[in-house]
Amino acid sequence: MIDLRSDTVTRPSAGMLEFMMKASVGDMVFGEDPAVNELEEMAADLFGMDAALYCPSGTMTNQIAIKAHTRPGDEVICSRMAHIYQFEGGGVAFNSGASVALIDSDNGTFTAEVVEQHINNPEDWHKAYTRLVEVENTVNRGAGACWDFDELKRIRELCDSRSLGYHLDGARLFNAMAADGRKPAEYGALFDSISICLSKGLGAPVGSVLIADREIIRQGARIRKVFGGAMRQAGYIAAAGIYALRNNVTRLTDDHRNAAALAAALKECSLTEKIHYGGTNIVIFTLKPPATAAGFLETIKSYGILALKTGERSIRMVTHLDVNDEQIKDACDILATL
Ligand SMILES: *Cc1c(COP(=O)(O)O)cnc(C)c1O
Repeated sequence: MIDLRSDTVTRPSAGMLEFMMKASVGDMVFGEDPAVNELEEMAADLFGMDAALYCPSGTMTNQIAIKAHTRPGDEVICSRMAHIYQFEGGGVAFNSGASVALIDSDNGTFTAEVVEQHINNPEDWHKAYTRLVEVENTVNRGAGACWDFDELKRIRELCDSRSLGYHLDGARLFNAMAADGRKPAEYGALFDSISICLSKGLGAPVGSVLIADREIIRQGARIRKVFGGAMRQAGYIAAAGIYALRNNVTRLTDDHRNAAALAAALKECSLTEKIHYGGTNIVIFTLKPPATAAGFLETIKSYGILALKTGERSIRMVTHLDVNDEQIKDACDILATL
């Protein structure tokens, strides 16, 4: 099977498993797990930020950051497409008692001017306190769209002038950096907190890291405990993250080249209507009526290809380190002739 449903379907490689088995571990809650400590230091150093927290999932790192930045009743500005709003089970409200001000756009990116329009006047009793601006890079539901770095800087300046926190959901930040050529420290200098996923394109079986300033990490460690994310000999899985950061970053451009090939093949396909491709590892496309996503998925499954339904007529394909160039070539040949 050529599994293009998600970059989360990857299995740890033999080299990664071997490295995991050799991890030196201890009780993470006592601060005594060498592999967890190494991963957290590695991530903080890489981004030039104070400290980091290893967590089981990207949902947890995002939700910890939101809780550390806000108080109940506050408001978070984010895209309507944002993972924190669409795909974290209503966690912004559930965990933090916060509301959201949603920005509409084609690909989940937006400008500082639009953010400014969504900031409430703190003197107005009717309005929630706006406390945090959240952006996602790349944008999952924006077909892997990558932010314009200068716009991210303008939003930083706005956050500074209005005393707002600035959080980056960087589940696929390494994909963004593979596309925009920016360095982790450049992102680290812009944001108060960054969440990165090790279990997506980087190929680890589990894990995300929240990287931030010392105060957010101090509060975050307590919140991680409350959320049930304080693990014990987690070094075995943290080691997978160390291995991923060392070995699986530079190859992300292969995934981007493969996704571009899929996008081109889908343009040739007679059943597709609109192809959205943000230049990284995600392609989202719609089908011409009467074709349906369910029918299309069944057809491609019979050819050994799996993809994900994202709407009645829309489908997502994601490339990753467990689909090779040959499989992509096969998939392209099939898709172009459907
Ligand atoms: C996958 C993902 C996350 C985190 O998901 P988990 O499954 O909880 O690790 C966060 N944000 C985005 C944009 C994602 O794609």
